[in-house]
Formats: sequence, C-alpha cells, structure tokens
Amino acid sequence: MSYSALANPRATKEVLDRFGHSAKHALGQNFLIEDNVVGNILRLAGLDSDAGESLPCVIEIGPGIGTLSIALLERAKLVAVERDADLYDVLAHTCAPYAERFALIGADALKLTNAQLEDALASIDAPAPRQLVSNLPYAVAATVVLDWLERFNFLDSMTVMVQSEVADRMSARVGTKNYGAYTVKLSLIAKVTDRFQVSRNCFMPAPHVESAVVHIVRDSAVGDAHTIEAACQVAEAAFAQRRKNIRNSMQSRFSRELVDELLNACDIAPTVRGETLDPQTYLRLGKKLLELT
Ligand code: SAM
Repeated sequence: MSYSALANPRATKEVLDRFGHSAKHALGQNFLIEDNVVGNILRLAGLDSDAGESLPCVIEIGPGIGTLSIALLERAKLVAVERDADLYDVLAHTCAPYAERFALIGADALKLTNAQLEDALASIDAPAPRQLVSNLPYAVAATVVLDWLERFNFLDSMTVMVQSEVADRMSARVGTKNYGAYTVKLSLIAKVTDRFQVSRNCFMPAPHVESAVVHIVRDSAVGDAHTIEAACQVAEAAFAQRRKNIRNSMQSRFSRELVDELLNACDIAPTVRGETLDPQTYLRLGKKLLELT
C-alpha cells in the first residue's frame, strides 16, 4: 500500500523538474522520498485508520512539494504553512485533488497569527486543528515546537520530524548531557511519548544529520501558565552557565539575594548544578519566584 505518490526519488525529481525548483538549503528543503516513513508518521499520529464520517483537521508546517500533505489529505482536512513562495504553484498542483479540504497559508510559521489561521480554517470549513504533523525545517524545529505549544492551546499533540539531536534534547533524562533548559521547558507543557529514527537516505537531497520523528502530547496537568513561565525563567538562569553551580549560574539573571532566598526556600543546595534538578523542582522554584517578586 502506498501512502504518498510523491514519496519516492523519481516522482520527487519529476515534480521539481517540472516546476524548475531546486531544493533551498537555507530553508531546510530536504524532501521525503521514502513511503514507509510517511506510513510510520501517520501511525504515530494515529491517522493510519479510517477517519469515518467526519474528517479531523490537521496542521502542517513546511509542506514542501506536498509529499506528506497528500497522505494527510487522504485522511484529514489540512492547513499547511509554507514560507517559500516558489512552492505555492507546486502545492496547488500536487494537492489539487483535495482542493476543497486543503488551505495553504503563505507565512513564516514562527510569525503565524491567529487571524491567518482562522481565515484558512474558515475557507475549508474546518474546526481548530488538534494535531500538528510535519517534517519540520531543522533550523526552526526546536523553537517552533515550543512556540506553537505555548501560543496555540488548541493543539493537543505534535508528530514531527526533527534532527535526531533535537529529539534527544526533547526527552533527555535529568543529569545527562542533553538535559537542559529546553528539556525542562518542554516537559512542563508536554511529554514525548514515542519516537523512531529516520536515516538521511530517506530525503532528497540527503541532509548532513540523522533525523527522528517524535510524538509529543500536551500535558495540561502540570501547572498554570504563569507558574510555568516563571519556572522557565529559572531554568534559563540555572543553565545559563551550565558548568557553574546553580547559585553562580542564576546570578547572571537574578540578584544574589533573590537567588539565595529562592534556593533556601526550596531547600536546594547552592552547590548543585542546574542539570541535577528535575522539571518538578523547577516548577517549585517558579512558584517561589512568583511569591518573592
Ligand atoms: N514536508 C516536505 C517533505 O516532507 O518532503 C518538506 C519538508 S522540508 C524538511 C521543510 C519545509 O519547510 C520546506 O518546504 C521549507 O520551505 C519550509 N520552511 C522552512 N522554514 C519555514 C518557516 N519558518 N515557516 C514555514 N515553512 C518553512
């Protein structure tokens, strides 16, 4: 069974040649050419079975030439956000069979506004998307995952291809070298529940790095937005100079008096390093920071 007619080298080359398009390195244009990977992404996203009567709505960042998009469109209404205007004609062509359920927003995903999204959803009569499914442009992958989870509350889950190294940071364990402020921030909003590796040979052109697809599920039970924001500020400070102990590192952002009061109130030794504290401890520190400031 084929998931996407574009997920092979011949079809991808044909489309690129037909529209005279060369992959733009600066925009992370590494097009998927392996159909099994498309199938595995759909499985991880829970979109591999029949949707039944009412189609779900999915959002995609960076549809490229439409390789993943057409597989998603078989199973869902789709809003896609693409930055490269040279790809809009390509997408109009490859996604033409699904025109009535496909809306393209020409924008930088990091600058997408609610108004742009609402217009696109209205144009295909779709509800707010609960899922993001994407082969993300690597330069912005880590940022956009956090940014969209923070800005778009309607998103319950994300199934995204990222650099393997970014996937490692997303689910790093406390005390390991990949564990950092990013891990803490993401853990306070969502959990990585699944993952599979993708070889560089699955793309055209092949990127310099290995990739992984991660499934991320929002965890709204962690805390309120203010406390999470304060916890993120503490984590930023604790990892600002990760070789230093937490007391010294945090002084790059907060006064010495406040740092001492905060650590003391939360019963944390000033000599430990930020990487030894779990996300729940950062949450406690965030709560205390709000009380003390
Ligand atoms: N989805 C396609 C696939 O799997 O073959 C293409 C994925 S390619 C890795 C990343 C795509 O993201 C490209 O089409 C690129 O033009 C687009 N892109 C890059 N930066 C972007 C941004 N800031 N906002 C939206 N799209 C972006």
